[in-house]
Amino acid sequence: MHLYELDVVATAEGLRQKEFSSVEATQAYLERIDNLNPKLNAYLTVAAAEALAAAKTADERRRRGEDGNLLGVPLAIKDNITTVGIRTTAASKILENYQSAYDATVIKKLKDAGAVILGKTNLDEFAHGASTENSAFGPTKNPWDTTRVPGGSSGGSAAAVASDLCAGALGSDTGGSIRYPATFCGVVGLKTSYGRVSRSGLLSMTSSTDVIGPITKSIHDAAVLLQTIAGPDSLDQTTYPKSPRDNEYAEAISTRADLKGLRFGVPKEWLSVGGLTAGVAKMIKEAIGTVQKLGGEVVDVSLPYAKYGIPVYYVITPSEISANLARYDGIRYGYHATEATNLFDVYAKSRGKGFGPEAKRRIMIGTYALSHGYYDAYYLQAQKVRTIICQDFDKVFKSVDAIIGPAAPHVAFKLGAKVSDPLKMYLEDIFMSPASLAGLPSLVLPAGFAKPEEGGEEMPVGLQIIGRRFDEAALFAIGHCFEQATEHHIRRPKL
Ligand code: GLN
Repeated sequence: MHLYELDVVATAEGLRQKEFSSVEATQAYLERIDNLNPKLNAYLTVAAAEALAAAKTADERRRRGEDGNLLGVPLAIKDNITTVGIRTTAASKILENYQSAYDATVIKKLKDAGAVILGKTNLDEFAHGASTENSAFGPTKNPWDTTRVPGGSSGGSAAAVASDLCAGALGSDTGGSIRYPATFCGVVGLKTSYGRVSRSGLLSMTSSTDVIGPITKSIHDAAVLLQTIAGPDSLDQTTYPKSPRDNEYAEAISTRADLKGLRFGVPKEWLSVGGLTAGVAKMIKEAIGTVQKLGGEVVDVSLPYAKYGIPVYYVITPSEISANLARYDGIRYGYHATEATNLFDVYAKSRGKGFGPEAKRRIMIGTYALSHGYYDAYYLQAQKVRTIICQDFDKVFKSVDAIIGPAAPHVAFKLGAKVSDPLKMYLEDIFMSPASLAGLPSLVLPAGFAKPEEGGEEMPVGLQIIGRRFDEAALFAIGHCFEQATEHHIRRPKL
């Protein structure tokens, strides 16, 4: 086995047993990135020198007797999370050479834990998208079929994990951006509860739904990463005040050998939705069968308002984006149009040249939805329906422990198939936006493979498991049981 094939837990174990050093593991990844990144475009920045220096420090810390689940483990970070010394671009021309003055809280925590940051991964510009095609630096390719998208917006992180270009990664999820690429790339992705992880240093998109979470090769790895990055933060007043207990998540995965005593709700609206392909439906039904075999009770539930998730999300999201992107004015951050002749011209030219089409579209829609006379009709109305969507979930969680269903209606689509039709791209979020609007944790894990409708090689299919707010531990326990009973997560793309 090559060092780059090891997951987070196995890498830490190898380091602990002195089978190899962090420098050796880091070098193995850097070499593989050199070979494969030109083909996949998963990384926008490879921080080779910084990674090797961090690996050396980690090896010294181990030599001095320190231990830790991430000490010396090489990871990839989505490029909308700030890192001192490594540029943070958000895959936008407006931040092409942006160097942050501070580390995101999650980065501080990873560095304290001794993790090695290999580099920064590709995304849709400012995380707006579902395919990673909205990147100003070219799309990432799906490692299972490089003519297909990896999903988005954290497509770089998911592709890097799936193709062994890192042991594990961080992504961000506002309306599906961790879960969607996880299902398209056949890896584990956890959208954390809103407030579970500090957003300080995450470039804001939709402040009321943005979260950071792990993308990994296994549930255990996701548990280890979340344990390190979770917890309250004085720099983010929306963080949940309670930290997880020491080792809570790693313990959660060993609490159950089966799913006996647990009730799972399958939203009946989701399995009958138009556009759900036969191949995906089959895998989800099989997954439901596995849950039953493991002793879980499966019942039909109804989320009647979840179908309004997309319209509500696409009013609230651009509204918050229009406010959040106002800071990129050509003066304080990033790209500055030197040819501008007056202040207004600086704004217009810097933003006009710096932002790509999707960011501009969202700024315009959001500015409209928030403007006097339209605010009540759009933004306020969307917030009211959002509350009803939350209540839908609250009601269902009175009688079930988790909700299970598809993550995406189909497998990864071809590059270019939807990127010129924004509405089509927005519809990709159908199973994603409800949990985001409600702030609930949601786990996507490998549940099989299906051939694309239009023909081609088998592609990964993910199962989505939505849990109670702040109960990520339950998702890890359930997810681990499912993972142990199946082999989908073991298959890797041939590259
Ligand atoms: N597809 C969603 C969007 O375009 C998801 C984005 C996200 O989660 N960052 O807004």
